[in-house]
Amino acid sequence: MRHVAVIGSGPAGYYTAEACQKAFGEAVRVDIIDRLPVPYGLIRTGVAPDHQSIKAVSKRYEATALSDNVRFVGNVTVGQDVSIAELLGLYDAVVLATGAPHDRPLGIPGDDLPGVVGSAAFVGWYNGHPDFAALAPALDGPGAVIVGAGNVALDVARILAKTEDEFAGSDIVGHALAALKPHGIRDITILARRGPHEIAMTPKELGELGHLRRATPLVDPADLPPADADAALEPGLRKSVSHLRAFAGNTPAAPLSIHFDFFAMPVAIEGDGKVERVIVERTRLDESGRATGTGETYAVPAGLVVSCIGYRTPPIEGVPYDAKQGRFANAEGRIAPGLYAVGWARRGPTGTIGTNRPDGFLIADQIAADTPADSAKQGRAGLDALLAARGTDIVTFRDWQGIERAEIANARTGAPREKFTSLDAMLAARE
Ligand SMILES: Cc1cc2nc3c(=O)[nH]c(=O)nc-3n(C[C@H](O)[C@H](O)[C@H](O)COP(=O)(O)OP(=O)(O)OC[C@H]3O[C@@H](n4cnc5c(N)ncnc54)[C@H](O)[C@@H]3O)c2cc1C
Repeated sequence: MRHVAVIGSGPAGYYTAEACQKAFGEAVRVDIIDRLPVPYGLIRTGVAPDHQSIKAVSKRYEATALSDNVRFVGNVTVGQDVSIAELLGLYDAVVLATGAPHDRPLGIPGDDLPGVVGSAAFVGWYNGHPDFAALAPALDGPGAVIVGAGNVALDVARILAKTEDEFAGSDIVGHALAALKPHGIRDITILARRGPHEIAMTPKELGELGHLRRATPLVDPADLPPADADAALEPGLRKSVSHLRAFAGNTPAAPLSIHFDFFAMPVAIEGDGKVERVIVERTRLDESGRATGTGETYAVPAGLVVSCIGYRTPPIEGVPYDAKQGRFANAEGRIAPGLYAVGWARRGPTGTIGTNRPDGFLIADQIAADTPADSAKQGRAGLDALLAARGTDIVTFRDWQGIERAEIANARTGAPREKFTSLDAMLAARE
């Protein structure tokens, strides 16, 4: 029997458990440990609430979650309730699937002013992450600036731009819906350091901006490369750029505009005690395709700034860390004997949910090669004894199903669920 502890119940964690089941069958026990009492990581707290078909992916993990040799151990923070050294003593393999939950800072003057938030916080707020339930973002307007040229920037713009009716069928949490309903934002500006050919925005997400009821996406035609240059792009990016070309034909229409400012990087955030404007420098691309400042600046009025420029994995005591990359130091997932990383904690914050699947299979192969088939380690019995001695309140998968049933029972009309947004409420909803 092999004993495996997976730290983190997001996609990378569940794909690792699934791969271990496939590799070892009945001869493995996997504990998926998560700091939250609810599973699925960013599928629950990152993926946009109005993208329910993507969130439904988590249902596919239930087959793994409900099998006898895999269990969920929620409400346990590794590095706090139990250490890595303790887990290595109990399990043959410890796999870090802790994601990259911290925002990469903007690193410009004024980025600590009230009104500046990172996307992990903002997205966590509208998605019911208990860490961010009390965020209260500045929604008075009239301006909001979003920094970044990827899909997270588009998610944030779309959530700010939608009417209450357009959230029908979503699982946006009640506190966010109530705050977004009356907001005073009229101009949303997306700042992208490089040009339309260098975006990391996918066609579906860009296309959605063209169908919003009260918002018009706008692109300055002067920012677009000559149309015949699109032919060299890969098909997905070409489709994205075709949406931008369509937006360049729009004219501003009340009440809300979404401006794409390309070749634009924020250099300072200014205001008297809170954000009032973002100072933006125009850029040009150098020969290697990197954006460099031109010295020409302009100001964008804003009461809210959301930075969507990437994430970092927080270090855990005893685990080698690559501070430059913001993730655990690893070679193809191997960190140290018996210690591995998968998903965003291994590769950094790129790729889709499915990109994490091969990671799980890679690590299962490595565990097969590195660990004995029959070990004398205690595995889950040892963890239970340790946590019981510390008085740690473990949440099981069955408990989570009780929490989920309560969320579904509490749903607004038409909504799939009303998420609990505090640990206490989650724990109280167990059956
Ligand atoms: C805003 C946003 C929107 C996205 N939208 C999409 C989309 O529409 N489609 C798509 O395909 N992909 C999307 N992604 C990407 C996708 O969510 C990621 O690829 C995926 O979630 C990464 O999986 P992971 O398991 O590595 O990390 P995560 O999903 O972040 O899971 C990490 C887990 O580890 C737990 N954890 C962290 N630290 C500890 C600790 N010390 N002890 C115990 N547990 C811990 C966390 O609670 C969490 O459950 C989006 C990402 C973001 C940020």
